[in-house]
Amino acid sequence: MYMIDLIQKKKQGLELTDSELTFLVQGITNETIPDYQITAWAMAVYFQGMTKRELIAFTKAMLNSGQTLDLKAVKGFKVDKHSTGGVGDKTSLVFAPVAASLGLKVCKMSGKGLGITGGTIDKLLAIPNFKTELSTAEFIATINKVGFSITGQTANLVPADKKLYALRDVSGTIDILELIAASVMSKKIALGTDLILLDVKCGTGAFAQDLAAARKLANLMIDIGQGFHKQVIVVISDMNRPLGRAIGNALELKEVVASLENQGPDDLKELVVNLTGLALAASNKKLTLAAAKNQVIKTFNSPKPLKLFYDFVVAQGGDLNYIKNLNKLPATKHILLVKANNEGYLDFNNIYFLGELSVLLGAGRIVKDDIIDPLAGIILKQVHGDQVKKNQVIMELHTNKEITREKEFQELALKTFTIKGEKPKLSKLILEIIM
Ligand code: URA
Repeated sequence: MYMIDLIQKKKQGLELTDSELTFLVQGITNETIPDYQITAWAMAVYFQGMTKRELIAFTKAMLNSGQTLDLKAVKGFKVDKHSTGGVGDKTSLVFAPVAASLGLKVCKMSGKGLGITGGTIDKLLAIPNFKTELSTAEFIATINKVGFSITGQTANLVPADKKLYALRDVSGTIDILELIAASVMSKKIALGTDLILLDVKCGTGAFAQDLAAARKLANLMIDIGQGFHKQVIVVISDMNRPLGRAIGNALELKEVVASLENQGPDDLKELVVNLTGLALAASNKKLTLAAAKNQVIKTFNSPKPLKLFYDFVVAQGGDLNYIKNLNKLPATKHILLVKANNEGYLDFNNIYFLGELSVLLGAGRIVKDDIIDPLAGIILKQVHGDQVKKNQVIMELHTNKEITREKEFQELALKTFTIKGEKPKLSKLILEIIM
């Protein structure tokens, strides 16, 4: 079998066979196929797509490139929650303790953020001594003890994806929905939970920029789930606005703790109520979604989610004092104020730039080995649709970067919003639920 023939076939819009896809994935894993041929094939997928059969066979080959986890030792209904990535998205850190408070077992492997979307692991790494590389035994023990655990991905889980992702990242082939779907789902299936709960972000701050793309991505992942007899539920949520008011690792941790004290932003709570409600209803067929959501709302009033979050931090070696004293963290060298240049209604119209700004301030990585500044980020003092006066502060930029870059930061910040004469339309946060 020759890779050149597989590239030609895909370029012509033909389906690859199971053995051809196995050959391709083995060649990626063993590095026997050169990078330029792999990226040529990925680009052909961008133009020609994949059939459902092909997508499932490709995901299976990816899954077989490494080990899978055996979570039999975790008793109860096991849920994995995943977001396709957004700006200010700290949902998993609220979802997990809330869901665990209701008896669900949340088993989650997360990645580091790259590009404009932050990663859950980076937020956890802001906590001194927090361990994000657990062995399988430690992962299972933490879930059994606390009700949830979040760890980084082990090296032998879908190794083909790591290699393919690295190549896609530098060849303009990240935004291919079939490859995103197979990448995400191969890792979820390798983990082996009872439910895969996906939050597909849709908007200027996400991979899927509009509802049609988000629906397509959601359906591709559901198709893959069906191929593996896995229950998959997808929530499509709006990413034309940031979630909550904090962007940046320690700043987001503060918002997580506030949410667990039921004093967080409404949009984050709404998303968590929906996600947890769906998971709870899936775990118990006698429970309606409305009743399940009511239970979640009640849980927000109980001290249990915050207690479980503390237990989780301790179980994974993190410094509990840090979490309990987030308000006492030192400020960054500079807190720059971005002000409204006239009066009217605030319209955030480019969340991508907001994500990019947070990265430039130090909160994310431009290349893989960049070091994150846990204190850097953005606090939104006003949110989409708010009425603002001239010179009113719209956002604070927290950074330890040189002050000589202020002009660059201010210019980018001003590209994220406009002030309009009329109140902009606020779309619903939860755009669709597909199961
Ligand atoms: N997240 C993944 O895990 N894979 C992709 O391809 C994109 C986002």
